[in-house]
Amino acid sequence: MPPVPLLLTPGPLTTSDTVKEAMLRDWGSRDPDFIAMNSGILERLCGIVNAGLTHVAVPIQGSGTFAVEAMIGTLLPRSGAKLLVLVNGAYGHRMVKMAHILGRPVEMMEWPEDAPVSPQKVDARLGQDASITHVAVVQCETTSGILNPIEEIADVVRKQRRALFIDAMSAFGALPLDLEKTPFLALAASSNKCLEGVPGLGFVIAQREMLKASKGNAHSLALDLHDQWQGFQANGQWRFTPPTHVVAALAQALDEFDAEGGVAGRGKRYRDNLRVLVSGMRAMGFQPLLPEAVQAPIIVTFRMPSDPAFDFQAFYRGMAGRGFLIYPGKLTVADSFRMGCIGRLTAADMQAAIEAVKSTLAELGVASGAP
Ligand SMILES: *Cc1c(COP(=O)(O)O)cnc(C)c1O
Repeated sequence: MPPVPLLLTPGPLTTSDTVKEAMLRDWGSRDPDFIAMNSGILERLCGIVNAGLTHVAVPIQGSGTFAVEAMIGTLLPRSGAKLLVLVNGAYGHRMVKMAHILGRPVEMMEWPEDAPVSPQKVDARLGQDASITHVAVVQCETTSGILNPIEEIADVVRKQRRALFIDAMSAFGALPLDLEKTPFLALAASSNKCLEGVPGLGFVIAQREMLKASKGNAHSLALDLHDQWQGFQANGQWRFTPPTHVVAALAQALDEFDAEGGVAGRGKRYRDNLRVLVSGMRAMGFQPLLPEAVQAPIIVTFRMPSDPAFDFQAFYRGMAGRGFLIYPGKLTVADSFRMGCIGRLTAADMQAAIEAVKSTLAELGVASGAP
């Protein structure tokens, strides 16, 4: 087998050996030990956003998108509701698409991919349109790596007495989010981003009373969050085959998350990683798309260098050969590529990635990374 590369991507991410080792054991899905491990995880997930009193965590098999779709499909009523999605990237567009497919009334407000959502404009829109009942926003839009002002948006939505859905996928566990400061109806995230587990499950943290009231609302059996929750309420079990190894890995990942100091500790490591990455890339002429003030310590978008010797595919292969997997861009505003700073990576790993960029540029004969 070739050596294991480090993943400078938005997920799945590099995980610790101990997280991978947690998957060496087989679990019986109806066994009390598994049930206890699983319910422990659900409580801990709520604790991370201080939501344990009023909200419950419901996991769902699949990737993060499954959780977002389960959240909207279950908690957005079939009639008398209209969703407003705040869009500044691909994941916002994905929620609009979901609502269309679900046949629910939906509108969007759109910002450029390099601009944060404006809470004032959301406030004005909600003031004009009383038929909007729910608002959906992405905390960190992984398309560009931009951080949206989630507390201010939640504040506007609360004052206007609407309900808020948050796609917190790429931020959960690394960027602060507290139910008291950021009231939400529900948020969705997954095991394989900043929690540093492995891919295979998403979860929704939803207000218990609204979840209770959503019986029969879902469009789907498998993505019915209410029914999934009822299963856990009844006997602590998943309705359908759980990703047992993924759950075991997540339990270990949460231990490591706590040992690192939770959101504060993990966020600090990622900010350190970001600093090493951005300063090293800037020194070679590369230019980040986003101004520092809105750059989340998750993933950085760099403008494509203009040097004619720079070819992204060759650059990708050069980096991969040196043990680092980078990520293509997903922007419509500019030609770009991305490098992540999340996962089980340290500042030393990021420094090694910078050295790999340097030597790859030399190999390609690229003088500068300047766009
Ligand atoms: C990763 C991600 C998702 C979910 O993507 P999957 O590929 O389904 O795991 C959703 N929203 C955001 C913001 C993400 O970063």
